[in-house]
Amino acid sequence: MTPDQWRTALKAEGVRFTEYSGWTTRGRDAVTGKVFGPVHGVLNHHTAGSNSLAAVAVDGAPNLPSPLCHAFLPKTGVAVLVSCHRANHAGLAAVNSYKAILNEKPIPKPDKSTGTVDGNDVLYGIEVENLGNGKDVYSRAQYDSWVRWNAAICRHHGWGAGSCAGHLETSVEGKIDPLGPVEGYGTRGRFQFTMTQLRADVAERLKHPASWSPDTASPPPPREVKLTGPAYINLGLVRSYPLAPGNWEDIQFTQEWDDEAGDHAASGETFAAGAARFTGSLSLRFEGLPVGDVVQVRMSEWEGDVLKAVHPIHEVVGTPGGTYGFVPLVKRIGAGRSMRVRLLNQSKFDIEVASAVLTALAWKES
Ligand SMILES: [Zn+2]
Repeated sequence: MTPDQWRTALKAEGVRFTEYSGWTTRGRDAVTGKVFGPVHGVLNHHTAGSNSLAAVAVDGAPNLPSPLCHAFLPKTGVAVLVSCHRANHAGLAAVNSYKAILNEKPIPKPDKSTGTVDGNDVLYGIEVENLGNGKDVYSRAQYDSWVRWNAAICRHHGWGAGSCAGHLETSVEGKIDPLGPVEGYGTRGRFQFTMTQLRADVAERLKHPASWSPDTASPPPPREVKLTGPAYINLGLVRSYPLAPGNWEDIQFTQEWDDEAGDHAASGETFAAGAARFTGSLSLRFEGLPVGDVVQVRMSEWEGDVLKAVHPIHEVVGTPGGTYGFVPLVKRIGAGRSMRVRLLNQSKFDIEVASAVLTALAWKES
């Protein structure tokens, strides 16, 4: 791309940029005797440093003369053009990865045994400022410009997003860039950078005109839940009842000392209804449960007569002289649902549910 083609493509794509002095003539072509291009792809990097503009444009790195990329992208999201010629950014690219970029196919793990090409001959490079420690965050503005920069080049050449790669996808020298968390993009909150995601975002851009911007409507604020209560609930049994082995059965609370929430159904089994939050406990006494045998207890959620969810099982183990169990009841229950407690007698014998006392405090949500 010529300087004017760069300017035109980036402006059309909405990339904010400045031009570093000398960028239209700076390059490694004359020194190396190798001509940059024809170019067949875009290679993405993180700088693994901060304030790297002078380094990538003029100072270079140890044993690596500048320029080190075509554009530098700091956290402000305002790109800086540093070269439009041959730049030292790609090093050797594995042939198997490079071929995949050429053909816009999924990029395999770079395999040196397939041979290498000098990536600096054939790939545009962008250095995106990030420490590369996995913690430093790419800013929203930076990632937005990053997507646009890749898309601008693809659009200019008539490429798809498959022509965009990360250094880690081509390097035979074990490069790991780019990586790290991204503050957000469009309506998306924080996420981990991956080339797959960057390509998807570039592909999405390319479906739209260059002037397109992603919807950035912020996600709706967390819903404010208003709680009313607590209402006091205290239920029990008028008399003991037999519990046969083998089936889950709802406890029918026949004694109603208190039900300020008003959700204890006439049929007896419901003790709470949503949307609500409750905390409480259930005290149980069983007679006739053989020592060491088990009665399982669990809460179950219903919509009308349809079982929608069951909650973790508590086990009450038979002890000599009657068995006493204590089950915590803490839950949120959604709108339109009701909560029951069920028992499963796992012994071989009929036992007696001698007592079941439920005590809870419930807050209604609105
Ligand atoms: Zn790199």
